[in-house]
Amino acid sequence: MSKTKSSESVKVVVRCRPLNRKEESNGPAGGIVQMDLRLGQVILRNPRASASEPQKTFTFDAVYDANSKQRDLYDESVRPLIDSVLAGFNGTIFAYGQTGTGKTYTMQGAWLDPEKRGVIPNAFDHIFTHISRSQSDKQYLVRASYLEIYLEEVRDLLDPNHGNARALELRENPESGVYVRDLTSCVCKSIKEIEEVMNVGNQARAVGATDMNEHSSRSHALFLITVECSQPGPDGRKHIRVGRLNLVDLAGSERQAKTGVQGERLKEAAKINLSLSALGNVISALADGRSSHVPYRDSKLTRLLQDSLGGNAKTVMVATLGPAPQHYDETLTTLRYANRAKNIQNQPRVNEDPKDALLREFQLEIARLRAQLNHRKWRSKQKKEQVDGEGWEGDGDEETEGEEEVEKEAEEYVKLQEQRLEREKQDIREDQFMLAEEKQRLLGEKERMMGDLRKEQEATEQLTAKYKAMESKLLVGGKNIIDHTNEQQKMLEMKRHEIAEQTRREREIQQQMLVQDDETVELKETFTSLQQEVEAKTKKLKKLYAKLQCIKAEIQDVNDEHVRSRQELEQTQNELTRELKFKYLIIENFIPPEEKNKIMNRLTFDPEEDQWKFQPLVPAESKSSQMKKRPSSAVGYKRPISQYARVAIAMGAHSRYRAENIMFLELDMTPPNTATLDRATKSERNQIHSLDNSPTKDRGVCKSRSWCQTPKSITSSSSNVSLAACHTATPMTAQ
Ligand code: ADP
Ligand code: MG
Repeated sequence: MSKTKSSESVKVVVRCRPLNRKEESNGPAGGIVQMDLRLGQVILRNPRASASEPQKTFTFDAVYDANSKQRDLYDESVRPLIDSVLAGFNGTIFAYGQTGTGKTYTMQGAWLDPEKRGVIPNAFDHIFTHISRSQSDKQYLVRASYLEIYLEEVRDLLDPNHGNARALELRENPESGVYVRDLTSCVCKSIKEIEEVMNVGNQARAVGATDMNEHSSRSHALFLITVECSQPGPDGRKHIRVGRLNLVDLAGSERQAKTGVQGERLKEAAKINLSLSALGNVISALADGRSSHVPYRDSKLTRLLQDSLGGNAKTVMVATLGPAPQHYDETLTTLRYANRAKNIQNQPRVNEDPKDALLREFQLEIARLRAQLNHRKWRSKQKKEQVDGEGWEGDGDEETEGEEEVEKEAEEYVKLQEQRLEREKQDIREDQFMLAEEKQRLLGEKERMMGDLRKEQEATEQLTAKYKAMESKLLVGGKNIIDHTNEQQKMLEMKRHEIAEQTRREREIQQQMLVQDDETVELKETFTSLQQEVEAKTKKLKKLYAKLQCIKAEIQDVNDEHVRSRQELEQTQNELTRELKFKYLIIENFIPPEEKNKIMNRLTFDPEEDQWKFQPLVPAESKSSQMKKRPSSAVGYKRPISQYARVAIAMGAHSRYRAENIMFLELDMTPPNTATLDRATKSERNQIHSLDNSPTKDRGVCKSRSWCQTPKSITSSSSNVSLAACHTATPMTAQ
């Protein structure tokens, strides 16, 4: 399945939004983020630090400042990734950053303004334009899904009753990795259709939330596009490549305040951050390169992005920043996070001929329908030939004839047949020598034939409609599905692409030069005098000293952050421990130990769901066998019964005991249980003895009849009577 297997790192780009009006009015301090677009560097100024403190510099694959255009980011950083997806790679773009820094703006943007359209609408354009321009021997199938993860639950945004829908489960398969079970997937044939899917999902997201801003900053939205492409290979067989694209708008990365919350609110707060902190841990583990365990299973998000982080995918991370001084800490955290992600190595490969390709199923179904239609055509042709005696011109052109011809052929045949039947009916009516009865019979027969003919035609029409519907879902390269595919536009796009590529390469070379400068400075220099050497070395010392200071500050920062997150974790742990103790207290004081044990025994861990679950009380398969078994204390009875009740029934003393059994069951033929009788008191034994002497000597019947009955002779009719009597007694005695 793999064709090209190589390792490449996650591409990380940083984007800073402009200061908004409120931030501008806050003071003249200006932004704290500076960007060197040529070098791909972000320089961060600490507003609280003294002027002498060195500024923090981070280098990325690309940086986009406040003046950057949506188009620039797309052409330079996203376009190559979408091209890879179209070639059959998995691709992921995720936007990471504090709430309000432009994640949604970058991913979606303003749809109506062409200048402000974000990554997602641009990707739609890109994909469908590519398909329309590809060769005509390529067939495509494009599908889209949309989901969100909120409070660690995966929800389908395309499900019509999204609000009430249950959370979806994650499953894993060795072929396509982790996927969401039962997720709606819409086949899209045009940009308009896929935009519609996006809108439906966005609306579902907005409707489900009481406060959209709050909700979107706490939930992760994933838009998934699958592009399957089939193309004949050199071996003549059609090969399918499947590219999966994940477009992810993550929840706001800011720390959720946990202080003072308890119980459900505490759990909620922990869940909100769970996916993001798990993502951070996964990135750290992968970037570190030394950890043998990567905690993908810690959250739904990391499981879904498992392939995108360190697996079979090409990944672009867009870290978004705000320039306002008051968000310095969050901005620094985002930059650190992004900086770490640069070190993740992925192993992308082309997904060729996977078993679960839907396109293959579609092709097979279309071929089957086509064969059925052809068969019908062949049949109608043959019948036509029989009707008008024409010769039939072989089957060589069967495959090449289109479905319109098939339809025409069938229609023509039906018309001819109808005319012929009509003529025959007319002849019958006009035939003077035929008996009226005979005429009626023949006319009836012709009517039936007409009916059959119509049914046949209807079936063919249905088949053709189905065939057309199936085929229309597949997009064929070379067909003009978009109207702006003129040459000029194509050229313009190519030029843009070239420029973007050139800028990227330039930046890469600049970055490499910077690194090499530091390394080779020593080698280059040959000193003519001692003075010169001293000067050069002093310069170098200063440079290195500055670097040392930077690194020291960095270490201090990392330590501070570590301490802070440790404190937070400890606090969460303390509160959870307190809650646990409280629960234990309740269990120990209010729940009987045997009940507790029963519950404990029923608990099993579901590794798929990653949680503890209750086993059903009676395992489904052994239910029937358990039902059949009767407790030993109740042999001969429907359920266990006390000695006292047994005697009372025998005596017929109290109506209360009649309710012990209301039906006669003549099933159990086992001999009476003497062991129980042995334990009976003397007086009881006498009573039982007298029971034996009762007019009913038939032990078997006595044993098997209901013991709600006073010892009377038992006949089938009396059993009915007593049944009725017991029925009336039941409401009074039932507790
Ligand atoms: P997030 O999704 O990260 O919470 P949004 O995308 O909603 O943030 O952005 C918050 C506000 O900032 C929006 O009004 C958006 O229009 C504006 N904004 C974000 N990025 C930019 C940008 N690069 N240029 C102009 N405006 C931006
Ligand atoms: Mg948002």
